[in-house]
Amino acid sequence: MPACAAPTALGLTIVAHTLILAGPESDVDELPPYVTCELDPHDTTTQDHAAHLLFLPGDTEGKAVWLLWNEKHARTQIKDGCQEYDPDHEICTLYAAHPHSHAWRSTRDY
Ligand SMILES: [Zn+2]
Ligand SMILES: [Zn+2]
Repeated sequence: MPACAAPTALGLTIVAHTLILAGPESDVDELPPYVTCELDPHDTTTQDHAAHLLFLPGDTEGKAVWLLWNEKHARTQIKDGCQEYDPDHEICTLYAAHPHSHAWRSTRDY
C-alpha cells in the first residue's frame, strides 16, 4: 500500500530540536530539507503524520528522532524502532507501536 506521503518542510526549529535530541554526535547533513509521512493513509484530523528524521548516533536498535505533525503543530520525539520482520527478513522501517500496517523497506518507494 502506498504511504500517506503528506509532505512537510523541516523548519529551523525542527532542525534545532532534532539535533538536541540526537545529541552532539549527530550529523545535520543527514537531515533532508523535507520529509513525507511514512504511515498508511490515515484520518489526518485525529492522527498525526509521522516521518523518520535521524537515527541516534551509536544506537543499533533503530532508535531515531521522529517528526510528528498535523495542521497546527509539529513536534520531534525519540522513538524505539519497530522490531517486526516480514517473511523475507526485511525489518519494518517505522517506530515501535506505530499505528496501521508495518512498512517493509522492500514494498515502499521513497
Ligand atoms: Zn500521514
Ligand atoms: Zn512495524
